[in-house]
Amino acid sequence: MQFIDLKAQQKRIRPQINEAIKKVLDHGCYIMGPEVGQLESLLAEFIGVRHAIGCSSGTDALLLPLLAYGVGPGVAIFTTPFSFFASCEVIALTGATPVFVDIEPVSFNIDPAKLQAAIEVVKKDDKLKPKVIMPVDLFGQPADYDPIMQIAEVNGLFVLEDAAQAFGATYKSRRAPSLGHVGATSFFPAKPLGCYGDGGAIFTDDDQLAETMRSLLVHGKGKDKYNNVRIGLNARLDTIQAAILIEKMKIFVEEIELRQQVANRYTEAIALAVEGSFKITPPITRKDCTSVWAQYTISCDRRDDLQARFKHERIPSMIYYQKPIHLLDAMTYLGHQCGDFPVAEKAAHSVLALPFHPYLDPDDQSRIISVMCE
Ligand SMILES: *Cc1c(COP(=O)(O)O)cnc(C)c1O
Repeated sequence: MQFIDLKAQQKRIRPQINEAIKKVLDHGCYIMGPEVGQLESLLAEFIGVRHAIGCSSGTDALLLPLLAYGVGPGVAIFTTPFSFFASCEVIALTGATPVFVDIEPVSFNIDPAKLQAAIEVVKKDDKLKPKVIMPVDLFGQPADYDPIMQIAEVNGLFVLEDAAQAFGATYKSRRAPSLGHVGATSFFPAKPLGCYGDGGAIFTDDDQLAETMRSLLVHGKGKDKYNNVRIGLNARLDTIQAAILIEKMKIFVEEIELRQQVANRYTEAIALAVEGSFKITPPITRKDCTSVWAQYTISCDRRDDLQARFKHERIPSMIYYQKPIHLLDAMTYLGHQCGDFPVAEKAAHSVLALPFHPYLDPDDQSRIISVMCE
């Protein structure tokens, strides 16, 4: 049994993938070939935004909007301490300062109720200028954007949505990553929509910002190819990855449904197992949201015992995340301590992600459930 089985999906669409890759090899436009633009149109339409911009990874999809918006030293960016390191890393890379806001215990996403207070503290301190909020749609479920956007408007802040794990999830019928002013996703192979290498995309309705990001994507190019107008990156999406993603998009909506079915089966089994030796809390999706289930993450007070039991039964499980970001070695310069963000710290001690993918074998899932719930 595998934690995420990417081969099962590949088997299903292998002939189409072979054909798509062959086409790229035949036309030979490996960089910015026609498939990149075709994919961008598909993505923009699916998410419901004016601009989708393919790029080289989810990390670059977060970095480019920050560069385009012009953040740097002296700027405060409000984000969650409970995420993959890349969310915070891109902030630090620009020279801006990550300011953490603790999470909601149930969704594991940034807590809007604590956001305004965090902004006030920074304003009062008067050392950093608040400019950006970066919520993360963790494990596939969007953060709570209505209050976040309202706080952003009141304080004149820009919202960058990290939807690396939530491409296609919905919040009040709108799809991530269209929920902030600009959104980013990742096509890392294990994400809900993954390619066969690194890839990502940026989404926005802002024409000016889109133009700046397209320039930054290719070394800050200007209209004249021989005159660069700003300092940028090489952050393009490969044509071959775009061709693969076009094929994967054809089955993506069906795969979201399959993911939901696998999630429902776990959740129903956990609800029935009140007598089990492990007290398990299933993930809960808000009523006005859908998740794309990048992870199916349970909470359990005796998490380490449960993981040992899984290991004994040769069932893979993963801890996302063992350490909240404010306690990682790379962030010691911010001077945080244990206890600063207690909800995130508690989550780090109790979360466990179960084997999960759209093609999870029902017999395998029954075995996981019986080990976890007996
Ligand atoms: C995966 C991930 C990223 C980075 O995406 P890459 O494509 O691996 O660069 C950023 N943020 C979150 C929350 C992620 O899960």
